[in-house]
Amino acid sequence: MKEKEQGLLIVLSGPSGVGKGTVCAALRKRDIPFVYSVSATTRPPREGEVDGVNYFFTTKEKFEEMIKRDELLEWAQYVNHYYGTPRRYVEEQLSAGRDVLLEIEVQGALQVKKKFPHGIFIFLMPPSLKELEHRIVSRGTESRDVIQNRMVMAREELEMMKYYDYVVVNDKVELACDRIEAIILAEHCKRERM
Ligand code: 5GP
Repeated sequence: MKEKEQGLLIVLSGPSGVGKGTVCAALRKRDIPFVYSVSATTRPPREGEVDGVNYFFTTKEKFEEMIKRDELLEWAQYVNHYYGTPRRYVEEQLSAGRDVLLEIEVQGALQVKKKFPHGIFIFLMPPSLKELEHRIVSRGTESRDVIQNRMVMAREELEMMKYYDYVVVNDKVELACDRIEAIILAEHCKRERM
């Protein structure tokens, strides 16, 4: 019988607008034993978003304090706002043997990879760039400038795919979830032999 092991750190990342949030929400509804790491951000809440559930909404000053105190596992500035993963929750959950899911953008994922090289890095891919633009525009919550910015970043972010363990195409949300669920299962099976 093996000792209680650390949980798996599962990092779901990919370009803006690819549907990370939607896929993540669908995964959270499934009966998969992982906990979700709620990020901190300085971006204002969108309609329907709840503090502590979608994000911990905070100020620039408080976020910068968290950086100084080394309370973030990773952080990034993304389209004029800060986003970051509170470190303590992730470390505690992993130590307790629970899998932890992070849904973060690409710069942050690369920082996590340096600290957790054995994490599972999943790159969510749009079926095409055209489809990606369509998704960003049709979300309708962003101004023209922000949309343009997000498209420029998305093109750069697609280049980062090579650093990931898995690529999952988000053609249909439930199919993408099936693939991610299969990856998590396979990773657990892989660890059985170690
Ligand atoms: P949104 O403003 O659309 O909620 O998120 C913008 C981007 O920030 C998305 O790509 C999302 O995955 C990413 N993001 C959310 N939380 C974090 C985080 O804690 N760290 C990093 N690096 N990115 C995050």
